[in-house]
Amino acid sequence: MTTIRMDGLVKRYGKVTAVRGIDLTIESGELFFLLGPSGCGKTTLLRMIAGFLEPSEGRLFFDDQDVTWLPANKRQAGMVFQSYALWPHMSVRQNVGYGLEVRKVSAAERDRRVNDALEAVQMGALGDRRPNELSGGQQQRVALARALVVEPSVVLLDEPLSNLDARLRQSMRSEIRRICKDHGLTGVYVTHDQEEALSMADRIALLRDGQIQQCGTPEEMYARPQTRFTAEFLGDTNLIPASICERGGGQVVLDTPLGRLVSTCADEDVPDAGNVTCSVRPEAFEPTPGGSIVGEVAGRMYLGERCLLSVQCESQESTSVRVLELGDAGRRSAVGDSVALSVNPDNVVILED
Ligand code: ADP
Ligand code: MG
Repeated sequence: MTTIRMDGLVKRYGKVTAVRGIDLTIESGELFFLLGPSGCGKTTLLRMIAGFLEPSEGRLFFDDQDVTWLPANKRQAGMVFQSYALWPHMSVRQNVGYGLEVRKVSAAERDRRVNDALEAVQMGALGDRRPNELSGGQQQRVALARALVVEPSVVLLDEPLSNLDARLRQSMRSEIRRICKDHGLTGVYVTHDQEEALSMADRIALLRDGQIQQCGTPEEMYARPQTRFTAEFLGDTNLIPASICERGGGQVVLDTPLGRLVSTCADEDVPDAGNVTCSVRPEAFEPTPGGSIVGEVAGRMYLGERCLLSVQCESQESTSVRVLELGDAGRRSAVGDSVALSVNPDNVVILED
């Protein structure tokens, strides 16, 4: 088991600064996600952890060992690349065993470890095939086996599911998580897919322009976004302009285009007065007889187990909110219906910017 600690990591490519000072500790045995839009520096940061790139500034530690300048093959880290990077002329077994051959592991030991790695990803029966005789999901498993075969304590995955179709992506999520946990690995997983991060991660760091915007558990990140960027990147939300009228007793009363809203999510950073933005998730609006938010359903999108409504609010002509309606399909709202909604104060989140 290995703890990974980053201390002021910076990476510059000429004039471009891809990673701008990352301080982060990834706990031993944790499955940690680096999430963010394309170009925010995820791959660059992962490659520094792997040892394929040298940082321009800062230090990197595996437990107490300073590995900043340690070559990749001495780091006890296995890497899974986005493209898989399998050799087409080699069989599955040869692909998986290659790293051991390079490390001069004896043939008998190599056989044993290749078998174990293929078993771990449930590919034991297909060892003699070539990569072009495998489906995308099977190739992905081989790439994973190749990372595991060196018996790493850290596994690094760069968008490992992005080449798979939606169904397979779903099933591989729990598979990858299981493998990391079974082997006691510290996992660092790069993705731009918020759903993948929310469903798999122990913790997530959301990156923007080479910096960490926010770091926390999936629940914290989703329910308590600190910034607009986090609120919008992790799922759908309504950003509502508000002014603070009162605070005290753990509550903040807000004047908004939807009328008065109460939030319990205020910390010391929220000002006593002035204008702020708050975030309310579409599923946080609850149909409530006598609810204070009154409006008319102006649009409706059917999504199977739920419906996304656009509700035009009575209080102000130009304000509409997206509302996620769950439950019994027969009792759902139609366009033109009047609705009354309320929001639990725990679900009104005041953002820092
Ligand atoms: P992500 O993986 O989040 O999409 P990257 O780490 O690949 O982002 O890239 C971060 C930034 O660094 C981008 O602006 C990208 O264009 C730039 N970059 C990445 N690799 C290089 C390189 N080898 N030379 C110059 N710029 C690079
Ligand atoms: Mg990338």
